[in-house]
Amino acid sequence: MLPSFFDSVLQLIVRTSTDLPPDVRAAMKHARGAEPENTRAGQALAIIAQNIDLAVDHEGAICQDTGMPTFEIHVPVGANQIWMRQQIREAVAEATRRGKLRPNSVDSITGANSGDNLGPGTPIIHFDQWDRDDIEIKLILKGGGCENTNAQYALPVELPHLGRADRTLDGVRKCILHAVWNAQGKGCSPGAVGVCVGGDRTSGYLHAKEQLFRTLDDVNPDSRLAELEASIMATVNALEIGAMGFGGKVTLIGCKVGALNRLPASFFVSVAYDCWAFRRLGVVLDQSTGAINHWLYRDPSHPIIPMLDQAGFARTGREVVLEAPLSEETIRSLRVGDVVLLSGRMFTGRDAVHSYLMKHDPPVDLRGAMLYHCGPVVVKEGDGWRVTAAGPTTSIREEPYQADIIKRYGVRAVIGKGGMGAKTLAGLKEHGAVYLNAIGGAAQFYARAIKHVDGVSLLEFGTPEAMWHLTVEDFPAIVTMDAHGNSLHKDIEEESGKQLEVIA
Ligand code: SF4
Repeated sequence: MLPSFFDSVLQLIVRTSTDLPPDVRAAMKHARGAEPENTRAGQALAIIAQNIDLAVDHEGAICQDTGMPTFEIHVPVGANQIWMRQQIREAVAEATRRGKLRPNSVDSITGANSGDNLGPGTPIIHFDQWDRDDIEIKLILKGGGCENTNAQYALPVELPHLGRADRTLDGVRKCILHAVWNAQGKGCSPGAVGVCVGGDRTSGYLHAKEQLFRTLDDVNPDSRLAELEASIMATVNALEIGAMGFGGKVTLIGCKVGALNRLPASFFVSVAYDCWAFRRLGVVLDQSTGAINHWLYRDPSHPIIPMLDQAGFARTGREVVLEAPLSEETIRSLRVGDVVLLSGRMFTGRDAVHSYLMKHDPPVDLRGAMLYHCGPVVVKEGDGWRVTAAGPTTSIREEPYQADIIKRYGVRAVIGKGGMGAKTLAGLKEHGAVYLNAIGGAAQFYARAIKHVDGVSLLEFGTPEAMWHLTVEDFPAIVTMDAHGNSLHKDIEEESGKQLEVIA
């Protein structure tokens, strides 16, 4: 067999999880240059840049959500795909053991986490034969937050703010604009979209995701689609959704469109949204040894150019310093737009914890507490634990529960990303609590604000879903929903909706 195959795949996984490809780095650098530093978007992009540098310097996961590993493989005729599939699965399990991938494979019926990223449907491995002698493996790690913002349209369709999308390229254009608008900051903007025109419901989504393997700076060989991509990129940033949905000049860093034939009765437009943590790399392997002949998307002989030429998140002196437990008076003094620095005890809780708290008392006292929507990457060290990646997860999933949990247990600050809805906003106002937006994907940055893991509850839910008890210091976040009924997310959605009508 191929003695170096396993090591090559492991290298590919580790590198993909920890080092953004140069085209994405360049786009993010450009985005940063477009936003004034003292704006919310500018501050978010400074933290993102710092996070990208930290990840590659320390070989840590860029984002704690290392996504659904998806391998696209080309092999010569006669290659043993059964053996390769097994080797890839073992490399995925090893990368998970090393903390480079978060255990992300969950039984859909019981919720049990397999712990090693293996299970029915995970990882995704697609093989194709080609008439070359070498082996090409491409990998994309696309997280749940942006996956949840994918969209599929059956044309013709009426779209809010855009009117009717017909079965034309203009109709496709409207669908893409709608998908980006609908995503707001929930998919950790600025993002990139892969789009498929046509196909059926399954092949459409697959082909849309495949578009994300194109580099951001390539030009579509189909001039009609090249024109569509250019027209989206020329207009979409006028929505001013900006980084994290904070408002700003850069909402999208790429748009790649492909087309498949369709049935006469169907006209689907499928949109795969990827976040700024756009992790995609590839390798070409020697057919007799499995050793890496060369990398795709990156050239190891070129040094990695740091994203930052100065310190990252810079304090202005206007930050509000908060120490848990938090009082109602302190919380009611905060307003949308305030930047806060959090210190003291913080508890994590996401889907499983919220569901649990609706039926059971909390395992800890949550009065005055900071509750962080986060599924960290945590490694065991001796008798203790260490968090190696800990950015926020998409908060809107907890919308059905959050207001009740605030009311029942006295939580004062909810930290997450992408914002929450009307029910939570009313709950914040009634009970004196606040929603704080941390910077999505900044897993390395926030891991360094966690000074100690003090304990853990509900570990039976798996490490991402357990309730971790953390001590944090100077953890920055922005008030985006306050205790006075104000929501930055609601305002940006309304304003960008009006803008959508202008560019329709
Ligand atoms: S950057 Fe945001 S959307 Fe992307 S994987 Fe991380 S948390 Fe999910």
